[in-house]
Amino acid sequence: MEIIIGKTAGFCYGVERAVNGAKEQQTRNEKTYCLGEIVHNKNVVNDLKNSGIEFIENIEDAKGLTIIRAHGVKKEIYDKAKEMNIEIKDLTCPSVLKIHRIVAEFAEKGYYIILTGKKNHPEVIGIESYCGDNYVIVYDEGEIEEAIDIIKSKNIENVLLISQTTYSSKKFDKIEEIIKEKIGDDINIEVKKTICPSTEIRQKETEDIAKQVDIMVIIGDRKSSNTNKLYDISCEFCNKVLFIGNAEELNLEELKDAKKVGIMAGASTPKDDIVNVKNKILGVSEYV
Ligand code: SF4
Repeated sequence: MEIIIGKTAGFCYGVERAVNGAKEQQTRNEKTYCLGEIVHNKNVVNDLKNSGIEFIENIEDAKGLTIIRAHGVKKEIYDKAKEMNIEIKDLTCPSVLKIHRIVAEFAEKGYYIILTGKKNHPEVIGIESYCGDNYVIVYDEGEIEEAIDIIKSKNIENVLLISQTTYSSKKFDKIEEIIKEKIGDDINIEVKKTICPSTEIRQKETEDIAKQVDIMVIIGDRKSSNTNKLYDISCEFCNKVLFIGNAEELNLEELKDAKKVGIMAGASTPKDDIVNVKNKILGVSEYV
């Protein structure tokens, strides 16, 4: 059986930076808190928990230095931490911080913001807090009509179309096309395709591999937005796709008729998980 592993599978630079930053903090022997999951991967979170980091859901529960996760938090959290005199170690990915800056700048200029992304995703919740009052979140083409009705009914002159970092590149292009077509030339539309390069390259590679193999194996956490996208893309181009959290969840029976297997992993999936899946398929008993 041939196995193709994506070159871009596993940690992106933002996740690597956040996880290394948290580990480095641990070497200081100082009680450390982390607000929410640092990345969407329970193995990574459990490792950090075991090393002593306390994960909290509310900034009010912090009693010392607090880490901000890779996909950022709401603006209000920084104000609250300041009020509580809590030191923040901000490990928000620079690509996410860039979106915060852009939406804040355009909201200030009075633009109506259309944000493509998933409602209630932590990254989107953070971005929303910088958008002011005039914005809408659009998940797919089916939700564009509502956004266009709002724009027309409010006589809006300027619109910013922007995206969550892990949104599908193809879906964004389609949404841009539909919005431009429906809104016409009377309204000024600024487009900022802020899907992070690492996400775009990974999605492209997933498509390329999915087209060549009998089965695609996607490794990552169900809560990870970018991993879910890899699963969706694989389903478009490959007849059989397995979504697993780690090697233990892989049922080898599912692979028994495959000649070529593709492996891809989300941006928050550790390298060890990928190696373990490969080894299990190859019948190598050693686990990392
Ligand atoms: S997926 Fe992109 S935006 Fe998100 S942490 Fe990784 S590099 Fe940053």
